[in-house]
Amino acid sequence: MTDKLFQNQPYLRECTAEVTEIRDDCIILNRTIFAPEAGGQSSDTGFINDIPMLHASEHDGLILHKTAGIPAGIGPGSTVTLKLDWDLRFDHMQNHCGEHILSGILFTRYGVENKGFHLGSEFSTLDAQIKNMSEEMLSELEREANLAVFSSIPVSVDFVNTKEEAEKYTLRKPLKVSENISIVSIPGIDCVACCCPHPDNTSRVGMIKIIRAEKYKGMTRIYFLCGMRAYEDYKNKHEIITILNKKYSSDENNLIENIKIHDNKANSVRQELYSMKSRFAAIEAERLISSSEKAVIFEYDDLSLEDLKFYAKKISEQTELPVILSSTACNTVILTHSGKSRLECGRLVKDFACGFGGKGGGSNTLAQALFSDTEVMRNFVKIAFMSL
Ligand SMILES: [Zn+2]
Repeated sequence: MTDKLFQNQPYLRECTAEVTEIRDDCIILNRTIFAPEAGGQSSDTGFINDIPMLHASEHDGLILHKTAGIPAGIGPGSTVTLKLDWDLRFDHMQNHCGEHILSGILFTRYGVENKGFHLGSEFSTLDAQIKNMSEEMLSELEREANLAVFSSIPVSVDFVNTKEEAEKYTLRKPLKVSENISIVSIPGIDCVACCCPHPDNTSRVGMIKIIRAEKYKGMTRIYFLCGMRAYEDYKNKHEIITILNKKYSSDENNLIENIKIHDNKANSVRQELYSMKSRFAAIEAERLISSSEKAVIFEYDDLSLEDLKFYAKKISEQTELPVILSSTACNTVILTHSGKSRLECGRLVKDFACGFGGKGGGSNTLAQALFSDTEVMRNFVKIAFMSL
């Protein structure tokens, strides 16, 4: 058995240990400060004698330390120095304990069990066994979890040897182990068997922020951040709000209202623009149709693809002649007609545009062809005209 110092001395960042075995390129020690990967969270990292310790895993009570190589001088009987990556450990402790607080409140206040936990590198999730969790319930859960943090409740760990001793506690979850059991207690909040390192007090968890929730396999998956992660999230969002406040000449109290006013103005401008384009298209239709015989053909130098399509559609609504509009601004040709012409727009694009470096396609009555070269586009327009 490896003596798991991380369980009863979670703030120990450095110690010495004796190597007992080298197995599968991993170092086994008589004791360790490195918590292994377990229960939905990755292992601690750090250094063993200045060699990076990349991953720790537990097998039959032994902790295997995977390092970036094992120097020749390290073997059974050697004494080595262990150094913990404390920032990562404390991040894990904050978010792991935050999960205890959220899960404990879900269970004691609402009778909802946590069926899964994952501590990711960006956020943590827990799967609450409830199909529909209302916004009000989520909000209340978050509020109560933060009150538990601000109440500065001690987090204690008791070690018991037998299942009978463990079952004297009011545990949130059934036991999965029958000996060497560590029981974590947060009075009034949670009590459960758990072998990970924990902070000594809920206040060290820092703010708990639920960032979103979604339906997941008949449950509700809750995404949350604790401690420094919640602080970083607040900082980032505050920066975003500050930028938006400047953009909309606002403060956070009337930002949403100002964005709505801005959106309404933008919608009015869009409607006005649409109306003007429609009027201009009607004038263009009259002008071009009156001077056309076999087809309405015109080349613009400033129309976007979207506008080109808009004008072609509007003009074809006014005539039975085929309409062939092009724009050098986007090197695109739009072919369309009302259905009275024998021009097969899509086939023409496929047969004569795609073979000459053009791209596009469409139906018998509406097609578009995009070219990388203006002269090639103009040649295609000539071919289209000749095919009439
Ligand atoms: Zn725990």
